[in-house]
Amino acid sequence: MSGKLQTVVVNLGERSYPIFIQPGIFTRGGKMIKQKLSPTRVALASDKHVAPLYAEGVLGSLEDAGFTARLIVVPAGERSKSLTRLKHVYRAFFDFQMDRKSAVVALGGGVVGDLAGFAAATFMRGIPLIQIPTSLLAQVDSSVGGKVAVDHPEGKNMIGAFYQPRLVLIDPDTLSTLPRPELRSGLAEVVKYGMILDREFFEFLERRVEQVLALKPADMTHVIRRCCQLKAQVVEKDEKESGLRAILNYGHTIAHALELLSGYRGLRHGEAVAIGMVGASLIADEMGMVTAEVTTRQARLLKNFG
Ligand code: NAD
Repeated sequence: MSGKLQTVVVNLGERSYPIFIQPGIFTRGGKMIKQKLSPTRVALASDKHVAPLYAEGVLGSLEDAGFTARLIVVPAGERSKSLTRLKHVYRAFFDFQMDRKSAVVALGGGVVGDLAGFAAATFMRGIPLIQIPTSLLAQVDSSVGGKVAVDHPEGKNMIGAFYQPRLVLIDPDTLSTLPRPELRSGLAEVVKYGMILDREFFEFLERRVEQVLALKPADMTHVIRRCCQLKAQVVEKDEKESGLRAILNYGHTIAHALELLSGYRGLRHGEAVAIGMVGASLIADEMGMVTAEVTTRQARLLKNFG
């Protein structure tokens, strides 16, 4: 099962798009983009950790497909989600002579996806965006659903847009180079989906902790696909978060406060979300909205994932 191409479609009328999941999918990235788009130029945005590992492969596949492509590298970390860094990205777009028929490929974690995504959403009033997420958090969450943003001293993601990608390409093999703390951070969002939407998936996670932590291909493909399906279902019903989509923010009220207070440096997003979910569940328990067992099982699963 792990080697086959898995597809999840986000149905949003004319803004619908496929998410393709398959080990090694990068090498066919250029071709897959070509089936949907024919951009004049393609900017490949990545960060200093991810670019040395994967940019060459993606650039090669873009060039093989006949695109004129250029790599734009930003520093790794949340601090790149800033208006200053965004200005540098626009500068690079102009230097590369991009126009309204150009496209942006975001190769990296949620930081690159959000930053390059917002740049694509706003450059020349919007040019096509392709997401190639490489962190677990980005593969199960940030690359899907169209939220793109940069931070502002007033708060996280304060300057942003709803801007759907045209295509999402996920290679679960990239998780093998992801630092373990980043993997754990992504697993917090994975647990979140089980908690808010899918009891069976939650139970699957409880049973498969070891296999997931060992990045067993079949388990990882299942985890990523199920999370993408669940996120797609929510986004299809409430794209711009006027109601249901807020369910995806489970644990995030506390998490965002913790991140703000730690200056976006002390805690990873997923770590803050894990703490936030435990807090939210304790409050719900206190208010008689969930049983103590829910809080206990959630805490146990988060603990088991490290
Ligand atoms: P990140 O992009 O900073 O990536 C984490 C670290 O892992 C970085 O150092 C990165 O360089 C490195 N990395 C990524 N992939 C790698 C790989 N395959 N091998 C080696 N290193 C790799 O952080 P993240 O956790 O991916 O994303 C967090 C961001 O996503 C936050 O800014 C958060 O606000 C945002 N987010 C957005 C949405 C959305 O819907 N747009 C949803 C959730 C989170």
